[in-house]
Amino acid sequence: MTRSMSYDVIIIGGGLVGMTLALALDAHGVTSAVVDAADLDTTLTAAFDGRASAIASASAGMFRTIGLGAMLDTQSCAIHRIRVSDGIQAKPLVFDALESDGAGGALGYMIENRHLRAHLLAAGRAAAGIAVHAPATAARINRGADGVTVTLADGTVLTAPLLVAADGRRSKIRDGAGIAVARWTYPQTAIVTMIEHVASHNQTAFELFYPTGPFAILPMRESASGANRSAIVWTVENPAAAGTLKLGPRGLAVEIEKRIGGLLGDVTVIAPAASYPLGYHHAAAYTAERMVLIGDAAHGIHPIAGQGLNMGLRDVAALTEVLVDAARLGLDLGAPAVTARYSAWRRLDNSMVGAVTDGLNCLFALPGAAPAAARRFGLAAVKRIPALKRRFMAEARGETGDRPKLLTGVPL
Ligand SMILES: Cc1cc2nc3c(=O)[nH]c(=O)nc-3n(C[C@H](O)[C@H](O)[C@H](O)COP(=O)(O)OP(=O)(O)OC[C@H]3O[C@@H](n4cnc5c(N)ncnc54)[C@H](O)[C@@H]3O)c2cc1C
Repeated sequence: MTRSMSYDVIIIGGGLVGMTLALALDAHGVTSAVVDAADLDTTLTAAFDGRASAIASASAGMFRTIGLGAMLDTQSCAIHRIRVSDGIQAKPLVFDALESDGAGGALGYMIENRHLRAHLLAAGRAAAGIAVHAPATAARINRGADGVTVTLADGTVLTAPLLVAADGRRSKIRDGAGIAVARWTYPQTAIVTMIEHVASHNQTAFELFYPTGPFAILPMRESASGANRSAIVWTVENPAAAGTLKLGPRGLAVEIEKRIGGLLGDVTVIAPAASYPLGYHHAAAYTAERMVLIGDAAHGIHPIAGQGLNMGLRDVAALTEVLVDAARLGLDLGAPAVTARYSAWRRLDNSMVGAVTDGLNCLFALPGAAPAAARRFGLAAVKRIPALKRRFMAEARGETGDRPKLLTGVPL
């Protein structure tokens, strides 16, 4: 017998962004079905995703508002300082949340993706208003004037007024809807690993710029044995990636120490290195009939400023506000006016973050004396102009632009 179930929203993709959307909607009485092609339990290991994410403090505020504050309290490390420099020799520009802007509060939080995924999945499975179908694939999708029908490969039929594509950068839902994507690849690969180190990171994120690409050392919560830990995101030029991955823990530690000098004392690599090819993409539209795109299905950027997931979380906050407002007014959640409000809110903001991130990567990658002087001048200017410095810190916190209420601590 065919099972048929109705929801307010069907979300294809239960990754970090899709599952957060389901939880934010559930916290406001909007029901959803989450369909993911992966066995989500297998995505909770460091072998599947050994990355850690910088969650801006505004995004962290949303997690707290929807009941996920314990995840941050038990698993994350607050970032109180960001130290930026052009290589290891140059004088750094330091953004110190505790000293310089008077606003107080962390700039953001570092958390391992596997912990983030585990908390989101457990909360999603426990929520009365969320049905998680995974592993499951959509065999057929019909979007029409009356609503959306998704037929899963096992014959289960899901219906809703709105379909959300949260199925990542290679989104089949986006491509199936005929939405074009602007994209390019960077001649760079991110090498990601985790280190233990002798000196404390003092809750500081270090961003060192080298002509081959940025080198980020991000503060993590201490290990169970009390060791200092940091996550490494090392951008290398593509031809160097394979050799870097082959180095092994000792060789990798030597190369890392060369790049960070004595900043953290002796370094031990404690996780296998993984690589991520880097690229930019942006969907030409965020909507189609009864459908919207969120997260990496809509956009993807260079990880230089740790903003990709935060852009997706902003999408979540905006879409939740749009849908909750519409539900309260008794509107059709898939109506063009509803989906257009979401698109107008998010597309320009995401375009701007993408452009700034791309520009930053290009500027810091340029070799030669003139670009180096321009970088020194820029860093010195930010150092000397308090208003500029405050603006950068607000950006890091995710507190700029037309923020949805969930990112401002105001309840919906
Ligand atoms: C090296 C690196 C470091 C980064 N660091 C940061 C950082 O510090 N801070 C930050 O904000 N961002 C960071 N990012 C970006 C961030 O990781 C991504 O933006 C984010 O993970 C995107 O989440 P998502 O849920 O949109 O997509 P994904 O994580 O790709 O999830 C998509 C989900 O959809 C499912 N799926 C795919 N196809 C289908 C289908 N056909 N049917 C059903 N389900 C499907 C998948 O199984 C998956 O669960 C980093 C990225 C990289 C590469």
